[in-house]
Amino acid sequence: MVTTDPRPSPWRKVRLALLLAVLAGVGIKYLLVRRAERWVPDWRATQQVTLVLLAPASTTAEERDQLERLTRFARLGDDKATLSALEHWFEVELGRYVARPGFRPVQLRVSGAHPYTGAPPPPPRAGEALAFKDRYRRTRDFLGWYEERLKDVPGRFPSIVFVTFYGVEAAHVFQGVHSVADRRSRRGFVFAPLTDQGRDAALINVAHELLHLFGATDKYDGDQCVYPEGWVEPFREPRLPQRFAEVMAQGIPVAAGRSEASLDLFEAMRVGVETAREIGWIDQARRDRYYAGDASAGPRLD
Ligand SMILES: [Zn+2]
Repeated sequence: MVTTDPRPSPWRKVRLALLLAVLAGVGIKYLLVRRAERWVPDWRATQQVTLVLLAPASTTAEERDQLERLTRFARLGDDKATLSALEHWFEVELGRYVARPGFRPVQLRVSGAHPYTGAPPPPPRAGEALAFKDRYRRTRDFLGWYEERLKDVPGRFPSIVFVTFYGVEAAHVFQGVHSVADRRSRRGFVFAPLTDQGRDAALINVAHELLHLFGATDKYDGDQCVYPEGWVEPFREPRLPQRFAEVMAQGIPVAAGRSEASLDLFEAMRVGVETAREIGWIDQARRDRYYAGDASAGPRLD
């Protein structure tokens, strides 16, 4: 007769302990990731954000001039759109929902422009057909390239937006690379050409990616703004044309059946009701009242 030993072998115990340790590790990691992905700012305090400007190391005289102007735009501002104007924009937008006189919701601390050589590895695009391991590798390489850049940035805040400027000679490399945000690591990535228009586009995209880090979702579908969440005044009569672009939709609906007018100036950009709820400026009840037709629950627009 064959009998089995009821006592598990020491080796089996070790294997079981290892397996439990791995499972516990995976579980903790999962919870941490979930928490990071659900993080929403506490608006009782100003949100400090580090803005890392990157510019190519080898530049022409013309590009150096652009860089000089970009640095001025970053540190001092001028008559055109500036980073301090963007800080002010956050203040005005919050004020459309709640009265917080004198409160600055977002403060941008600029670092750079730091020179870089080569180009960052392209991030995987949304909707790109990639095997899981390829997507993982591309994401890891992309994030790794930027972590490397942070060695030059002391005393940074948890929320970081990188603005990678590029010259005309590299435009073909960056064409089709869209600005992205990684909420898990609280990093936003903006790409812009070293031109006047690039400066405005960078500003719009910094606001957009930063709001992703604060919990906002995209509100466009192809080249259409999602109705009603991607519209600033969805219940305005007549409905079209709209006056403003919702920051997470980035287009101004102008006529039925036409693609949206693109958002070129950040002055035309507003925070819509759904975005305001997602980032914690208003509560769910107020959001629901608004979409049920109570305009008084919406933003004060001028
Ligand atoms: Zn987006």
